[in-house]
Amino acid sequence: MSGGKQINCAYCERLKLTKNDIGLNKKLIHRQIERMMCLTCLAAYFETTEEELKEMIEGFKRQGCTLFG
Ligand SMILES: [Zn+2]
Repeated sequence: MSGGKQINCAYCERLKLTKNDIGLNKKLIHRQIERMMCLTCLAAYFETTEEELKEMIEGFKRQGCTLFG
């Protein structure tokens, strides 16, 4: 389960991103994205809120998307 390196937000470089954060980056921006954003920065980037993003994650999970766990 561990495997893979820890990924931090490329913009505030402060948070360790979760699988869901990473999945959302890939889903919203690009599959091969290298500069990941935390939910806070994603919310600012898309001019939405972290709550909205969390709801999106739940929605993708319900669709069975494998990017989210
Ligand atoms: Zn950030």
